[in-house]
Amino acid sequence: MVIRFRDYSKRLSDFEQEILVRCPQCDRIAKILTVNSEQSSLSSIKRIICQHCSYTKQQSNVAKGKLALRLWQNNYMAPRNSSYGILDHFFGLPLWLQTSCCGHVLWAYNEAHLNFLESYVQSKLRERLPDETLGWHNGSLASRLPRWIKLTQHREKVLQKIQQLKHSL
Ligand SMILES: [Zn+2]
Repeated sequence: MVIRFRDYSKRLSDFEQEILVRCPQCDRIAKILTVNSEQSSLSSIKRIICQHCSYTKQQSNVAKGKLALRLWQNNYMAPRNSSYGILDHFFGLPLWLQTSCCGHVLWAYNEAHLNFLESYVQSKLRERLPDETLGWHNGSLASRLPRWIKLTQHREKVLQKIQQLKHSL
């Protein structure tokens, strides 16, 4: 059976509602959640919560949301530091889901994001259909994935690494 991929409406920001990171206090898995403010649906507050040690912190965040897209456009690069790898762009904490793969870093915000990458990589037929409201456009996550993830020869390796990341949840 040919697995088709048609989900070209997803954007990176669709996965930002929950970002899994390494807790700065106990080094275990913590979540960054989006709390929408009452004043405006455009301004949202990001809150980090660790269920292991009760660490919590929050910050309002409007401008930094745009940074995510810029990072994406820069060939799937996110801020790095030498010992922790890819950092989230709200609090600067290491992403929980990241691993080296094919000479690059494979990373995801959460399980839904991992599933999205998996279904893309698994598909042999990647159909692009025009968006209902926008028509043909390049804003979708799938159309912005880095080339190395799309390469057929990397398929098995990428899928294997995605499975490894899922086991760390
Ligand atoms: Zn903690």
